[in-house]
Amino acid sequence: MQTRTWNAAELIRKDQAHHLHPLSNLYRLRQQGPLVLVRGEGAWLWDAEGNRYLDGFAGLWNVNVGHGRRELAEAARAQMEEVAFVPTFFGLTSPPTIELAARLAELFPDPINHFQFTSGGAESNETAIKIARYYWWLKGQPERVKILSRQMAYHGIAMGALSATGVPAYWEGFGPRPPGFIHLTAPYYYRAGEGMTEAEFVAALVRELEETIEREGPETIAAFIGEPVQGAGGVVVPPEGYWPAIAEVLERHGILLILDEVITGFGRTGTMFGMQQYGLSPDIVSFAKAITSGYLPLGGVGVTDEIFDVLSSVDRMFMHGFTYSGHPVACAVALRNLQIIEEERLPDNAREAGSYLLSELSELLDRPYVGNVRGKGLMLLVELVADKATKAKFEPSFQLASKLEQATRTRGLIARCTPEGIVLAPPLIITREECDFLLEAVAGALEDVL
Ligand code: PLP
Repeated sequence: MQTRTWNAAELIRKDQAHHLHPLSNLYRLRQQGPLVLVRGEGAWLWDAEGNRYLDGFAGLWNVNVGHGRRELAEAARAQMEEVAFVPTFFGLTSPPTIELAARLAELFPDPINHFQFTSGGAESNETAIKIARYYWWLKGQPERVKILSRQMAYHGIAMGALSATGVPAYWEGFGPRPPGFIHLTAPYYYRAGEGMTEAEFVAALVRELEETIEREGPETIAAFIGEPVQGAGGVVVPPEGYWPAIAEVLERHGILLILDEVITGFGRTGTMFGMQQYGLSPDIVSFAKAITSGYLPLGGVGVTDEIFDVLSSVDRMFMHGFTYSGHPVACAVALRNLQIIEEERLPDNAREAGSYLLSELSELLDRPYVGNVRGKGLMLLVELVADKATKAKFEPSFQLASKLEQATRTRGLIARCTPEGIVLAPPLIITREECDFLLEAVAGALEDVL
């Protein structure tokens, strides 16, 4: 393939002058500039100076089929040539949007059979929360508005999703959040389960949920929202028995379960959806990211037959939606992307490559600064500690994160380095050789820095 040449210095200068980056350290960007990535193929990315990197974070946990898939470009082009935009408001729609909803009804376990689309994860969670409240409102229980969430949860940064998010760093400086969002303890056994067996820890979390419901009053709670495996908050894999026990309590109190499958959906944990890992049957699911493998922005929610029946049994407008809900080009790309995920059995590869990476990364546990290694499929984290006995964190932790980021990049790996450690979530097409490259880069970067 003919590759373009780029003027890296000029691109960096323009970016520093004009681009206000999201979720970035703006102060550091002014001094150091961005990393400009110009090309991708498979699990690899190239920067403007021609350096190659393994994409150890699959874009933002989303490029499941890998970079440079011509099939997806062709699907977008074909749909743009037919008709690029048709709204889904006011009873309009187009074939790709219809076909995608029907395909998702086949893919999601019953009774999740009805879908509305958005442009991403935060919009999907806003939609899920509003549908939960609207459902209760239509059922004559308008006081059911509270949302139970968890610490370390990441549900996006729009105001409702942000309020469900349980990482205070995302709240600071952005003023008051709406009331009615309650954060329970995360199922983070490594720290919150200190001194307990896993079973005791699960029992304590269930007790906390029961007590919270009792204190608030079940008749005031609309829904519980949770990621099957918490991602951005720190790859929190729940202990055995956690989800079934939580789901049982919610069901007993008539509280809806919203599963946020924005990261876990479409293969990443080793099954098509995270809910299948834990035998869950949610009332509402939200998804985004890998539904298009990031080739175009698209998200959505799925609801059960029961919720759909309630929403569609009144002769009134459903006053919620976004201009780009069900964008035909994004839906056409999603359909083709889902076909690739199935044909290439990418959930199976996520499971196999994930368990290989988990077992190899666990070898790092004999280093004095590796406190915990955990993961599910291709969502993995190497947690770093200054002292293994006390589990004390390195301070200031953002400095360690930034040094590790540099060290992994120097070794040709793009990984997400956070105050907790190194997060890995490569594309699901990753090969054994690429896994070995990633492992060597992680081990080497840790040696370079610590
Ligand atoms: N939910 C989860 C679990 C996520 O990981 C993310 C983003 O990382 C979101 C929601 C928000 O998605 P978006 O950034 O597309 O709004």
